[in-house]
Amino acid sequence: MSNSNVTVCVRFRPLSHKERKANDKVCFKKLDSESFVFKDERDEDVIFSFDKVFYDDAEQSDVYNFLAVPIVADAVNGINGTIISYGQTGAGKTYSMEGPSILHCNELKTGLVQRVVNGLFECLRTSEDITTWTVKLSMVEIYLEKVRDLLDLSKDNLQIKESKSQGIFIYGATEISIMNSSDALERLSHGSTADDKVRAGKIVLVDLAGSEKVEKTGAEGRVLDEAKTINKSLSALGNVINALTTAKPNHVPYRDSKLTRILQDALFIITLYRYPSRTKLIKTLPKLIPNEVDSVKKPT
Ligand code: ADP
Ligand code: MG
Repeated sequence: MSNSNVTVCVRFRPLSHKERKANDKVCFKKLDSESFVFKDERDEDVIFSFDKVFYDDAEQSDVYNFLAVPIVADAVNGINGTIISYGQTGAGKTYSMEGPSILHCNELKTGLVQRVVNGLFECLRTSEDITTWTVKLSMVEIYLEKVRDLLDLSKDNLQIKESKSQGIFIYGATEISIMNSSDALERLSHGSTADDKVRAGKIVLVDLAGSEKVEKTGAEGRVLDEAKTINKSLSALGNVINALTTAKPNHVPYRDSKLTRILQDALFIITLYRYPSRTKLIKTLPKLIPNEVDSVKKPT
């Protein structure tokens, strides 16, 4: 794990059955655990480096251990964390976040969401200085620039607000208290002396929409509207990251989309990003930040 506040990883999924049948070729070569080689349009080798590359043999637990364990530990200490999965449709975003199915999947394939929840309770249970705690869960979807509450579908246009104590938050989003282990419940009920130091840590897990270009999808009508709004919020995300990674950002357009507004306090961290990692971030989002693609280094 890097010391930076931002960690950028890439994950390759195995070829699907359909891709194998169509004789599709794997377009990268493994270099090491941080870099891979990719052939560009001119058939030239380009090296891409990240904080970590998960090849197609990586397990869900590898991704969790590297990316999420530090975030879970921080959350328990009152430090917020966010994990965003970005990529084209079919790239494996939902698989990484939820596993093949969030409800029914074997332990090996359990995704980040479930692992983060388990890890959080484990941390709380084993912590020596935390006596009482509450874990709350909200789940929302941004659809056509409206924030929908997935825990109460009657709330289909939630507003985003900001306060000194909470930072950015989704006003009125349903919050359910969860305590998934009887062990922890028992500890709570024993009511050990309450510490007046309250720490609040928030973990945001984001499964983004596909990053492909609208023209390529051949979408029409409502699907086209959907694709356009998705593209708008993804390009807003790109613009925000771009602004934050320039030396002296004068205007960061967080308010251009619901996505960037909700992630505002998480994205702000990028300003603290050190230069080497900045290059990694830019390489991760080449389509969003076209001017920077040329900065990709050639193999030596
Ligand atoms: P996305 O959410 O990016 O559109 P999905 O997560 O739905 O993509 O993945 C597309 C397909 O590939 C799914 O059938 C999924 O189960 C499979 N898949 C994705 N990642 C992996 C992986 N690491 N190992 C095995 N199968 C995967
Ligand atoms: Mg998906």
